[in-house]
Amino acid sequence: MTDRITLYRAPTAEADVDAIAGWLRERTEREVRVRDRFLDVHRREGLPERFAAARVLDPYDRETGTDMLGVVRYEERALENPERAGGVLYDGVEIQRALNDALPEGERHLSHLHVALLDRAIATWGDHDNRWHKRVNVLGQPALVSVPGLYEAPAKPEAYYQEKGRHAMLIGDSPPREVLENEIEGDFLIAEDPRTTDALKGYVLQALDYVETGEPFCDDECCRLYNAHRQPELIEAQLREPEFCTEHAATYETG
Ligand SMILES: [Zn+2]
Repeated sequence: MTDRITLYRAPTAEADVDAIAGWLRERTEREVRVRDRFLDVHRREGLPERFAAARVLDPYDRETGTDMLGVVRYEERALENPERAGGVLYDGVEIQRALNDALPEGERHLSHLHVALLDRAIATWGDHDNRWHKRVNVLGQPALVSVPGLYEAPAKPEAYYQEKGRHAMLIGDSPPREVLENEIEGDFLIAEDPRTTDALKGYVLQALDYVETGEPFCDDECCRLYNAHRQPELIEAQLREPEFCTEHAATYETG
């Protein structure tokens, strides 16, 4: 039984962790606390090396990582200046192990769940198709929730990629967000989306539900515990009514 949850702030301004904590407190009646960035609070020696070792180098290669000094230095700087860490994909399970090791020994028990909101893109290896898949979250202790994963992991409508490719060919750059938003049918989240905080709530709750029940995700696509593979599904599950399926409404709905 998890009676205590600690959320860790993300550097991303759009992710309001205090608002997420308030929402979680109301729905779970657990003690929910907020701490600063996980990688600041639990900074340990050797973390840059662990991040370097968890780097996905090729989307079709299970092997990750490098111990090249330049990369380790990059990871050191990225820990200091999180806003500069972009464009790198990490093995989410390896990062989870590294962060579990970084937790104080007395705080590793599942009665105290830690949820680290990260500004890193994370992935898990798909044994069925032999490639890496970006993820919004990796469940366990600590649970990882990737803010960029929210925008990048669930696939956007096909027309988005077509428009992006067409624009890149003609002009050599990505089209401005307004163009993409106005010309593409179907709803999706992009970086710095004002709906970020609201969409993250369900992904944080998934972390608690998993350690409590041992069951990852819910099959009902209307439910906040649904594991969306496409952006329109994410919008449906996280941002539209109802919040939960009947079963999970009984557990998590207030009033
Ligand atoms: Zn459900």
